[in-house]
This record gives sequence, C-alpha cells and structure tokens, in this order.
Amino acid sequence: MEINGINIIIQRKNIKNMYLRVIPPEGNVKISAPYFVSDDKIIEFVNSKMDWIIDKRSQIEKKEYLPDLKYLNGEKHLIWGEEYTLQLIANNIKSAFVKDDVLYLPVSKRSKIKNRQKTLEDFYRRELQNEIDNIYDKCTKIVGEKPEDIKIRKMKNWGNCKKNKVITLNLNLAKKPKICLEYVFIHELCHLIEFNHSKKFKMLMDKNCPKWREIKKIL
Ligand SMILES: [Zn+2]
Repeated sequence: MEINGINIIIQRKNIKNMYLRVIPPEGNVKISAPYFVSDDKIIEFVNSKMDWIIDKRSQIEKKEYLPDLKYLNGEKHLIWGEEYTLQLIANNIKSAFVKDDVLYLPVSKRSKIKNRQKTLEDFYRRELQNEIDNIYDKCTKIVGEKPEDIKIRKMKNWGNCKKNKVITLNLNLAKKPKICLEYVFIHELCHLIEFNHSKKFKMLMDKNCPKWREIKKIL
C-alpha cells in the first residue's frame, strides 16, 4: 500500500507484534505484521511512526546510513562518534588501535570479513569497558543504585536491565558520542528503581540526566 506517497511493503508472519523498517536506498517501509492484525491497524501503526519514518528517509537520502562494511583500507569506521579511516596492518601485534584519525586493524592477509569484524569488535569492547569504568562511580552516585553486573553485547536495544539487576549495554555504543553511553547507563540504572517507562521513570531521568531527550535523538 501507499501512505503519504511512501511505499509500504507488508509481510505477514507468525509473530505477536508489528515491526517496521525503512529500507535503503529507496526508503520504502517494510512492515512485519501478525496475521490477525487488520490493514486499518497497520495504517494506524505506520501513522504513529510517521515522524520517525520521515527522519529515517531523510537520513537515507543524505546517505547518513552506514553501508555494509567490508573491512578494507580506506573504509570509514566510527569510534565515539568520530570517523576514522581503516588501515589494515600485519597481525604481529594483537589488538587494534587508533592514531590521529586512522584506525589500525591487525589482520592476517587471508583473514575473512568475519575475522576482521571480530578483531574490531574486540577493540570496541575494550573501549566500551574502559569508558564504563570511567563513568561508573559518577553515574551510580547520581542514581544512587549499583547493578549486580554489567555485560556488553551486540543487541537490538541500546541497553537493558533485568530483574536480577544485571545491566547489558550494546557494543555499538562505542560508535556513538560518549554522552550516549552515559545516558543509556543512567537509563538502565534508573530501572533499578522503576522497572518500567512510567511517568515516575521519566521524572527520574529528568532529575538524573536532564538532557536525556536531546541525547536520545543522537542515538
Ligand atoms: Zn528502559
């Protein structure tokens, strides 16, 4: 179907909730919807997400989305919101490092994309862990709560907090400005007090991270 001149592709699946994606390069909207949801409900859902869709489409138009990475020399990679140029080097040193605006990635000549990705992810993980250590005292003091444990994972959400007080942070936060990590960490710490996104939770966020709404937009 078409809404506001935007192509909407609907895929019916055996799922419980609706999911929506904006697909480059045309900016078509693809929706996965359960079989039992009516077209009217889908239209309602799309309209409720229209601001976000328009935003995504303009990013795609400006080519701000990240293309598929191949881990070749000259490729751009983000670290803490800054762009670095990838330079492959011999793997006689163990880990990736940055100097000026170059990201040096030690890989063997015959390494596959997957290995290169893994080496870079190890680097991101270290960066993120360091930064978590840096902000840990500050953030836990602000919120007045401490997690049982902090894990780093590649995942869909930026973070989550389980009932057992374990906080998980998305590895990709190492690609965003550092303030984003602080915001997500405080958000998850606030869940140790309020286990939902209620009004009370938002008031907690306003108190503990007054600029959270602006920072959320960066993410
Ligand atoms: Zn939350």
